[in-house]
Amino acid sequence: MRILVTGGAGFIGSAYVRRLLAGAEPDLAVDAVTVLDAYTYAATEDALDPVRTDPRLRIVRGDVRDAALVDVVVAGHDDVVHFAAESHVDRSIAGAADFVTTNVVGTQTLLDAALRHGVRRYVQVSTDEVYGSIATGAWTEDARLDPSSPYSASKAGADLLALAYHRTHGLDVVVTRGANTYGPCQYPEKIVPLFVTNLLDGHDVPLYGDGGNVRDWLHVDDHCHGIALAQTCGRAGRVYHLGGGAELTNRELTGRLLAACGAGWDRVRPVADRKGHDRRYALDTTTTHRELGWSPTVDLDTGLAATVEWYRANRGWWQPLKPRS
Ligand code: NAD
Repeated sequence: MRILVTGGAGFIGSAYVRRLLAGAEPDLAVDAVTVLDAYTYAATEDALDPVRTDPRLRIVRGDVRDAALVDVVVAGHDDVVHFAAESHVDRSIAGAADFVTTNVVGTQTLLDAALRHGVRRYVQVSTDEVYGSIATGAWTEDARLDPSSPYSASKAGADLLALAYHRTHGLDVVVTRGANTYGPCQYPEKIVPLFVTNLLDGHDVPLYGDGGNVRDWLHVDDHCHGIALAQTCGRAGRVYHLGGGAELTNRELTGRLLAACGAGWDRVRPVADRKGHDRRYALDTTTTHRELGWSPTVDLDTGLAATVEWYRANRGWWQPLKPRS
């Protein structure tokens, strides 16, 4: 099987590629993997180092908005797994243009090429944030999309386009919606890598508002395995939820990261809340469990401890990415 992975030099995409080439997804017999990535600030050269010499891997530096390039790159692939996106909510609040062009127009560009070249399956990697905030209970796959940020609105638009290409053109599409993901090789701007690297560097950490916003945490390996299962066993036109089953307020998460880094609450600096900050996300994973047999396997305490250890041991990876203070 020949698989095209967009955004394969980013956090989750690179983990997926490393897993594929390491044989961690035995249901996907891989003959070739092409990574298409624009290498924005969020990508790192080293993310694919462990597999760089694998003869099955080809890396194309390019933009999913470049229709001519995408047309050439998609040709000859069986599956397309679309991770590439602008992915940081705060950046989308500061400026939404790249979010709309990459996340929406880039997706449409890829869908058109997938259709033209008759790909077997197209996987749209999406997020729990498309539903907006939920006070109690958990979203089911048929819940109304009600995104709050330009990031989540652009992801919702991309999901709807992908599902529309299935309905209109019969393109074989599955959509995965994953929870907040943590693990190694994540650019140090989102809460887990930002806080861990700040703490390891002796700096403070900024906690939004009252710290009561709840997120559901999913280890990157579980996320990638769920995507691979949706790719192999999912039903065309369906949405699959990949929730971590591990809800924490940001304050609780901060407490765990402080403890893991040997720091105290004096290192926490309260900051004004994010605009439009969703209070809580939660995904109902009943269908995913029933249809794909997927459940998260990495316990949050174990996964967080291993993640902190990875950042402790790989200072050379993240230090150049931190702003000079
Ligand atoms: P990331 O920001 O770490 O990586 C994104 C990758 O996409 C980078 O390698 C970047 O260079 C590439 N990219 C950006 N714009 C591009 C363009 N125009 N053309 C080609 N490549 C481009 O993101 P991530 O955290 O790995 O997220 C991957 C996907 O998973 C995204 O679609 C995101 O919405 C989704 N997701 C992320 C999370 C999470 O918690 N990180 C949770 C659920 C879903």
